[in-house]
Amino acid sequence: MLEKGYIVHGVKRRSSSFNTGRIDDLYMDPHADDVRFFLHYGDLTDSTNLIRLVQEVQPDEIYNLGAQSHVQVSFETPEYTANSDAMGALRILEAMRILGLEKKTRFYQASTSELYGKVQEIPQKETTPFYPRSPYAAAKLYAYWITVNYRESYGMHASNGILFNHESPMRGETFVTRKITRAVAGIKLGYQDKIYLGNLDAQRDWGHARDYVEGMWRILQQDEPDDYVLGTGEMYSVREFVERAFAHIGVEIEWRGKGVDETGVDKATGVTRVVVDPRYFRPAEVELLLSDPTKAREKLGWQATTPFSELVREMVTEDLKTVAREQDR
Ligand code: GDP
Repeated sequence: MLEKGYIVHGVKRRSSSFNTGRIDDLYMDPHADDVRFFLHYGDLTDSTNLIRLVQEVQPDEIYNLGAQSHVQVSFETPEYTANSDAMGALRILEAMRILGLEKKTRFYQASTSELYGKVQEIPQKETTPFYPRSPYAAAKLYAYWITVNYRESYGMHASNGILFNHESPMRGETFVTRKITRAVAGIKLGYQDKIYLGNLDAQRDWGHARDYVEGMWRILQQDEPDDYVLGTGEMYSVREFVERAFAHIGVEIEWRGKGVDETGVDKATGVTRVVVDPRYFRPAEVELLLSDPTKAREKLGWQATTPFSELVREMVTEDLKTVAREQDR
């Protein structure tokens, strides 16, 4: 957004430890001239705060990317997840309405492929029925429909991007892709010897976040608001992600055993590198997600451009640097 010339206002939650590490390179000294990036304290669970911020900023576009976004954690904190992910979207839409910005401000809701959950059709597109499988997905289902409802009720330019998993070297460390690439880096550098994972057979449509943010922006530049699936149209298993990531450090993984006893072994040395730990199994699992992004291609001219192999390579390469830096401290 900054590269496109926007003035950007972000919202950050208060924490007693630093929590802006992933955007620190964008920081602009508020005393400098021509500041175009501002951060405000706020929270999707606090209506008064949201109304005041929207009033002060009078934004042309709002991207609601805020959420308790971890599926497994949502089983532990379901009420908080509903409050931030479902009610949070409603609070922003209401703030826009209360302040009379229905016709000025455009709204993007970060909807998710998790809505498809126990998939009713393969691949999944905009018309595929939803079947949420977690408190996270159930909360996001409300946010999806309240966005559609405000569009239809009040004529707001409010749109959903139904994004399939999008990853990058900045992905949170507890999501499976980043967990794997960090572990591969740690193993290569000798700081750890194995990784514990859950369901190795889950399949996902993994793309690069860099491509997807462009898609979000395009959704809001359309004359008419609408809902779009963004994904690559390709699907790989967690097991395949593991194999590719280890291949980048020259290790070929051989799978032995079945179910919870399955292990991934370095074929050359016989050393065990991957162990299944049932603590990472989910109470209800989303086994498979695969997008059909035809509508985005035809209407937005958008396509995912980063191949799976390149995504894995970039994440492993960056984590080799990150892990080395952390261990140096
Ligand atoms: P999600 O698709 O939003 O749930 O993204 P995640 O990266 O958290 O999980 C993707 C898939 O990987 C899910 O089907 C998980 O069950 C599976 N998975 C297997 N092992 C792990 C693990 O150790 N951590 C996480 N987060 N997911 C795992």
